[in-house]
Formats: sequence, structure tokens, C-alpha cells
Amino acid sequence: MTKLPDTAGLSPTTQPVDGDPEVIRLLKELVTIESVNPALDPTGAGEGPLAAYIHQWATERGLTARVEDDGSGRPNVIVESRPPAPGIPTLLLCGHLDTVSLASVTDPLLPRVEGDRLYGRGTYDMKAGLAASLVACQRAHEADLPVSVVVAGVADEEHASLGAQRLVENLQADAAIVCEPTEMTVGIAHKGFVWTDIEVHGLAAHGSRPELGVDAIVKTGPILVELERLTESLKSRVHPLLGPASVHASVISGGVEASTIPDRCLLTIERRTLPDESVADVEAELAALLQACRDADSQLNVTARTVLHRPPMQTSPDEHLVAVVGDAIRDALGVEAEVVGMSYWADSAFISALGIPTVLLGPSGEGAHAEVEWVSISETIACADVLYTAAEALAAA
Ligand SMILES: [Zn+2]
Repeated sequence: MTKLPDTAGLSPTTQPVDGDPEVIRLLKELVTIESVNPALDPTGAGEGPLAAYIHQWATERGLTARVEDDGSGRPNVIVESRPPAPGIPTLLLCGHLDTVSLASVTDPLLPRVEGDRLYGRGTYDMKAGLAASLVACQRAHEADLPVSVVVAGVADEEHASLGAQRLVENLQADAAIVCEPTEMTVGIAHKGFVWTDIEVHGLAAHGSRPELGVDAIVKTGPILVELERLTESLKSRVHPLLGPASVHASVISGGVEASTIPDRCLLTIERRTLPDESVADVEAELAALLQACRDADSQLNVTARTVLHRPPMQTSPDEHLVAVVGDAIRDALGVEAEVVGMSYWADSAFISALGIPTVLLGPSGEGAHAEVEWVSISETIACADVLYTAAEALAAA
């Protein structure tokens, strides 16, 4: 983890002169605007008010901005330093507008400073990255850089990625930086995932007449045992940046009452995938596992269905963008940038899947989805510098 000892390494343009630098002032504003994902908490405001604020912030500064709502009430907001045009490169800076719920966070919408930490829901995940993107875009506009810096503030990353999926329907960019928290390292890979419902069908019967029934819950037992074996064998399938692939049982349900043999057991599992593993690979792996269980028990009646999957993401460490962002981090922080894999899944997978070189970069902090969330103020300032410097380097290329 890269940590800034102090602000001595920052460029003169971002030194606080009179109160907060713009990126921190903006971040505090973004935190005060509730943008809880309504799919996670029905009382959440969603992305609308935050998208409207960013639109206003951008247009007041002469930037091109638009709110894109497909009628779902879950808008994206797009801000451009200059309109994309032939002959100039486009750098996409992407961040999600939504946060997880405010539940159990004290004063979640009241940004509070303590030393280098700015506390509040969404500071770390990921309004700091969003504020840094917007300020970098603003600076690119003011400097009239020959690069189109496009900030996409997208909806619903914390649930179903509705916003990113709309964004990539019609996206062209030469490079993309997704500003999720990376502790100021360059994230070039993350895992994908596949969710599967495994349904074991039994036969209901009175508990006193077990010979007439088939216990769906008991029949699920050997499948769980095989999943544990699979867990062990996946430990040998290791990605150099991401570690091993994995599988776990997430949810199980079945049965109606103590005196009835259950006719159904539903098991949901999650398989975290490495960049060289496809959904088809995972489905084939599970099909073989279930077939082995059937071969061992002729009474076993089981079906499996993929309910959701998201691709993994991997960018070559030799990609020009990786060097550009690494150089910009060294300029801002005075340390060599680490190139790493991220433990979490992010919208970067959708952008990368289009063949656009994509990395993740964001400031340090703690408490994504937790009760106490904070982001480093100095690294948020540095992040805006890094994004601007990267845009400058891509413009010059
Ligand atoms: Zn996030």
C-alpha cells in the first residue's frame, strides 16, 4: 500500500492555498448528496440528484455535460473536457454515482475531517475517485489539452451495473481509468464471477413414511462435499496477481416443517473466475461435478442454472496506459507505482471487454460498505494530479 507521508510531493497547483483545493471542496459536496442505490435500500435517492449536481458543476465551468436517463430514473452523467473528435485521443474516466446504504453509519452525509482523513458514506467507494476525475477533466479543459477527457458517472455499480452496461452500448475510447479505490496502485486485473442456482428435486412424504419420499436436503449433502473438494483443487489454479480461483456455497433453502420430507433444496453458489476462465468453462466444471454425484446416487435428481455472471478483467502490464499512469503516480507521489490485481469486481470489466485498455486507480482509505468509511485527503488531491498528468501524456502521445 502506497501512503503519502505529507503533501510535500504535490505539485504547486494542488497545494491548498485558501481553504480546500477544488477536488476536496467538490468531494465534500458529493458526499452531502445522498445517492444510495435504491435496489439495495428502497428508501435510497438513487443517482438522480447527484447526477444533476455534477451536471451543474460541470456546465458552470464551461465543460460539456449531459445527464443520460433511459427513463428508468437511474441516470448516468457524462462530462467532457472537449467533445471527442477524430485525430484526438479520448480518455474515459469512469466512476459510479451510487453508494451502499447509510444504515449504521453515524452522520453518513456529513463530511468530517480528521487529520488526513475525510469521513462519510461513499468517500472511499468512490466519490473521491469521482471528484478527482471531474477536477482532472476541468483542468484538461482549462489547459485546452488535445485529448478528450470524458468522465462517466454511472449508475448502479453496487447492484446490477445498469449504468455501465448502458455506457458500453455505445462507447469509444482509446484508454480508460476506473477510479475505484486502489490505494494509488495501478489495478490491471480483477476476477469475474458466476452465480449458479443448484436445485435438488426430492419427493415429499410424511416423516413417518420415509420409504415414500426422497429427502432433497439430504441429497444435497454429497454436492456440498464435492464443492469442498472443488474448493481445494481450485487452490492450485493461481493467477500471478489475483491468487486462486474459488467457489463457495452462498445461500441454501429447503424444507417446510419438521415432520415432512422435503421435496426441494435450492443451493446458490458463487464461483470467482480468473481472466482465463469463461462462463462455459465454469458451467462445464459444475456439470461434471453434478454428473459425478448422479453416478454415485441413481436417485439424485439435480439441475443447475447460471443466474448471473460478470466477466473478469485483465490488461497487459505492457500496455502503454499502464506506463503512463505509473509515471504519473511517480511524479505525484515520488514512489514507484505498484501494478496489482484487485480483490473486488468492478465496472472496469465491461469497458475492458470492448478492447479498451483499462486500469483502476483511486486513493487510499477504508470502510467500503462498512460502518466507518474514510478516504485520504492528500491522496485524493494526488489522484486528481495523476489523472490530469495521464491525460496530458496521452494527449502528447
Ligand atoms: Zn465502488
